[in-house]
Amino acid sequence: MIRLERVTKLYKTSTRPALDRVSMSVEKGEFVFLIGPSGSGKSTFLRLLLREDVPTKGDIFVSDMNVAKIPRRRVPKLRQRIGCVFQDFRLLPNKTVGENVAFALEVIGKSRNTVSKVVPEVLDLVGLTGKADRMPHELSGGEQQRVAIARAFVNRPQVLLADEPTGNLDPDTSQDIMLLLERINRTGTTVLMATHDHSIVDSMRRRVVELDLGTVVRDDARGVYGVGR
Ligand code: ADP
Ligand code: ADP
Repeated sequence: MIRLERVTKLYKTSTRPALDRVSMSVEKGEFVFLIGPSGSGKSTFLRLLLREDVPTKGDIFVSDMNVAKIPRRRVPKLRQRIGCVFQDFRLLPNKTVGENVAFALEVIGKSRNTVSKVVPEVLDLVGLTGKADRMPHELSGGEQQRVAIARAFVNRPQVLLADEPTGNLDPDTSQDIMLLLERINRTGTTVLMATHDHSIVDSMRRRVVELDLGTVVRDDARGVYGVGR
């Protein structure tokens, strides 16, 4: 589903690569934690997958698309395959919960009928039945993240990228969000989650890919956050 082949990213203003000849692949349906200290290259990794930037060298594939080589006009098609969730939720503050989710469908031209059918379904799926008419600021952090997940998932992307999705949430709420991401993963969606949250990584026992100074220093099938640290 995702494949990196000797991917190097050297920012113009930097002397050391943010990613240095990284090769790795993620199969369809996998759940992968991407960990590593600040500055190790996690954000760069996610940005390259989304074609927000291009690698200096190497190839990146997302399903059948060669991400760095596709023409600009096909970038929206790539991004339709990849749902994104962030630490700070990034909801549209002046739209209701339902409208936030509907927006993701409207921008890809879904009919009003489809939107009015699918939005309540996905809100049910994330545990927000009956909250469609609330404004984001009326919801707790955990609920706002559920809205963000609903919006990311409503188009049934092949891949869900989550960048520190529990970074602003308390431990119990974080666990609830992880249950939801697991549920989405069980539908066949590949999940790649960048995180600093030790307890979550340790409780899930999923694949752990650790970056340090732009290289993969560990790739464990059922990993924990720290080995001997
Ligand atoms: P992480 O997400 O793990 O904190 P990043 O991918 O953001 O790591 O950063 C990796 C390295 O690349 C760091 O040294 C960072 O300072 C550098 N970097 C990230 N983005 C840029 C940029 N736009 N321009 C220059 N250097 C950058
Ligand atoms: P995050 O890791 O929270 O997703 P960013 O991706 O925006 O944040 O930035 C990651 C790191 O890269 C930060 O440490 C930031 O200071 C550094 N960085 C971002 N843009 C630049 C830049 N233009 N030049 C140097 N460093 C940068």
